[in-house]
Amino acid sequence: MVFLQQFSFWKKPFKKISKIEVLNGLSRMKLEEYIDQVKSCVRKFDDPRQGNNKSYSMEEIGMSAYSVFHLQSPSFLSHQKNMKRKKGSHNGKTLFGFSNIPSDNHIRQVLDSVPPETMNPFFDYALGAMNLEEWLVDGRLLVALDGVTFFSSSTISCSCCLRKELSNGTRYSHAALCPVIVHPHQKQVLPLAPLFIKNEDGQSKQDCEINAAKRWVMANKEFLTRHKVILLGDDLFSRAPFINLIQSFPDVDYVFVAKPSSHPYLYQWIEDLDSKDKISHVVKEKAFASHDHHYIMANAVPLNGGEEVPTVSFLDMAVFNKKGKQLYHNTFVTSLTLTSQNIHQIACMGRNRWRIENEAFNVLKTKGYNLSHNFGHGEKNLANLLAVFNIVAFTVHTLWQITNETFQKIFNAFSSRKQFFQALLTLTIFHLFHSWEHLFEFVKDGLEEI
Ligand SMILES: [Zn+2]
Repeated sequence: MVFLQQFSFWKKPFKKISKIEVLNGLSRMKLEEYIDQVKSCVRKFDDPRQGNNKSYSMEEIGMSAYSVFHLQSPSFLSHQKNMKRKKGSHNGKTLFGFSNIPSDNHIRQVLDSVPPETMNPFFDYALGAMNLEEWLVDGRLLVALDGVTFFSSSTISCSCCLRKELSNGTRYSHAALCPVIVHPHQKQVLPLAPLFIKNEDGQSKQDCEINAAKRWVMANKEFLTRHKVILLGDDLFSRAPFINLIQSFPDVDYVFVAKPSSHPYLYQWIEDLDSKDKISHVVKEKAFASHDHHYIMANAVPLNGGEEVPTVSFLDMAVFNKKGKQLYHNTFVTSLTLTSQNIHQIACMGRNRWRIENEAFNVLKTKGYNLSHNFGHGEKNLANLLAVFNIVAFTVHTLWQITNETFQKIFNAFSSRKQFFQALLTLTIFHLFHSWEHLFEFVKDGLEEI
């Protein structure tokens, strides 16, 4: 471990880990498996190049780009070029499967023609590889929907940019609807394929999050009904056209935030209800010392005063500590019928929508992935393709955390995700690893010896 001790990152506050003696079935899942799935998507990228200008294969170009996001380092490729010169091989080849390393400019030029949806089969594979039974809540899968804006500029733009006319000029942006599977007792969230909010050729009206959500729901009807999905979302989704669409699917339900400012008719209706139709209920939560959950619920109320108005159940939730201080308050509408037996669980589902903010967007934006950073914009697809690479990398890391015990242990031994990937980068600058298992065993041995 002399080599490791040369680096300051290898010193405390790392936790010493115990020897892993028995690996369960999931732990034996090969780390390469998910990287291979990324590769099989990248292999299918259409090659836009004409003639003889093909020194690098599409797989080399795509995996070179992906590796930068996977190791969360823009400098990974230049370090591997150095290693290739000195050692004749490099970690790009052994860990990601590309022999030749193209320049950043060449990568950007070639990948601009690749639609981000070409990576969707990876997400299908990832979902299929998971044991979804462990993610069910009373036989239902919870899917949180939310949009994320990951690029905004007044000077850089492409044909897919969303445009907003402001007093000081046009604002260009990129955004995506990112559905994730959540579970109240799972630390991680499972990302599904993102759907980019973008303007198609010849489209005059700007695309928006709710339209993207309608497209996503329509495209995933079979998945939603098969897993009896309960959709979770913010106030944007608690509108009649979207709710009517969801209610037209059998076995699909929702719990959406409903703010008073966007639902005045509903709130007036609730206020005017007789006390027998508007039930108050208090639950004392044993898991959180002395926190009281105060609920007000009403079933079969109209969402608004318009035509074709959906009937919803209304739920007001407030959490107080033992001193009577309000810690949380929110209001939801749901297609589920509320009773004093199920209201606590349904309210907890509604609260779980915040996990998409905490466990997905916050990590993607601030914990090393830098989703909002401009890695390259291009003229057509590049910005969205690089964003999906970033989300794929986050998903592979998540799946490794869930399914591989060695990865889990070494990842948890570092005090932050950023520090973990900094350590991996430093190791891969100086040492050639012949596989991911080799790299992680090397780190594990180091941690066991501290
Ligand atoms: Zn753009």
